[in-house]
Amino acid sequence: MGRRKIFVRQMVTFEKMNSFSYTLPAQEILFGAGVVAQLGSAVSRFGWQRLMLCTSPSLRPNGYIAPIEVALGERLVATFERTQAHVLDYQLAEALETAMAHNVDAVIGLGGGSAIGIAKAVSATLEERLTGKSPRSVYPTEQPLISVIAIPTTYAGSEMTPVYGVTHTTGDTTRKVTVRDIKIAPKLVLYDPTLTLSLPPNVTTGTGINALAHCIEALYSTTRHPLATAAALESIGHITRALPLCYADGADLAARTEMLIGAHLAGAALATVTMAIHHGLCHVLGGTVRVPHGIANAIVLPHAMRFNLDAAAPELARAAEAMGLLRENKTDGQMAQAGIEYVEELIRRLGLPQRLRDAGVAENDLPKLAALAFNSATVQNNPRRLASVQEAETLFRAAW
Ligand code: NAD
Repeated sequence: MGRRKIFVRQMVTFEKMNSFSYTLPAQEILFGAGVVAQLGSAVSRFGWQRLMLCTSPSLRPNGYIAPIEVALGERLVATFERTQAHVLDYQLAEALETAMAHNVDAVIGLGGGSAIGIAKAVSATLEERLTGKSPRSVYPTEQPLISVIAIPTTYAGSEMTPVYGVTHTTGDTTRKVTVRDIKIAPKLVLYDPTLTLSLPPNVTTGTGINALAHCIEALYSTTRHPLATAAALESIGHITRALPLCYADGADLAARTEMLIGAHLAGAALATVTMAIHHGLCHVLGGTVRVPHGIANAIVLPHAMRFNLDAAAPELARAAEAMGLLRENKTDGQMAQAGIEYVEELIRRLGLPQRLRDAGVAENDLPKLAALAFNSATVQNNPRRLASVQEAETLFRAAW
């Protein structure tokens, strides 16, 4: 009887993936300690001559910019070092002016999701300015006019994806608008774990949980497919093993390397599926009340998993198994529940905030956030639909 149940459960999960479609971008990925030294030769291979670097203020004091300046020499024609979180529209305008003035042919994003995001946004907007046409791809193998190179220094995963968001600060409510275009996926990605040794504990843990959330949402995504599922399950094992070690000792290069492999796989899973309620709620929190992305991820993840418990029990159960939890005689629902408790405990152990009130969200912001969440396409692209603004507010209140 027990065996029959297992068979039926696997059939159902498998059947849901019998029909799928996705597009993979062409990307060169270089991974390894010290690999950033290969930037100059890789850029020569691609033929780029006039590069712009977009990065965040903390990267120069950590010594990460000088080797890039040396590797590129005169080919590095412009630098924008002021990137703040969440790609603000007025920062994009400044970076774009710099890119235009220097006639760049490729943009490097060095840093977390914000620096890589602004590099992607510069690439797309510059193409639009130069051609006078929409930069959006018409066919899946179309290439960009201005290529993006990504050198990630957090675990957020943007380097693998064809997605970027811009936060619009004018109008009544500040909000983040997301663009997905296969052309925007970085053509060259250099993963150098030595560039993550300086990550402060809260950015290590916040972006690490962001990577874990990408895997969980990829598993129950309405557009999931076997490749993304395989990457997500493999990644969950790396992340749950390595993230506590990176938190305990940020200088542990072996743990940093394993964590970056996890982040790479999580980014690969994220790149070809649509995200769901967790991601959508985090974008509302980041775009409207400026909660840092990693912190929003940590607070919302267990709530999103619980919301999807009935609709995605088999997928959440597989996530729990990938975390190393033993199946024993548990049903999918029980296993999924165990996975949610494990994630909650992991987030607590990593010292991350677990309530929105501890991340600066005011109680009277919740109705506005709920209305935005209910109308978000990402939130609604979820195995279980959010039925009303009221239900969105209940979810936010539970997290508050
Ligand atoms: P972030 O890029 O905003 O960086 C957070 C902080 O960490 C910054 O102060 C930065 O200067 C600092 N930092 C980065 N690397 C460092 C290092 N090695 N040492 C010391 N300090 C370092 O944060 P994030 O969480 O990486 O990215 C969040 C943004 O990326 C959000 O806007 C989010 O929406 C977006 N994002 C996009 C995608 C995508 O696929 N497009 C995926 C994930 C996140």
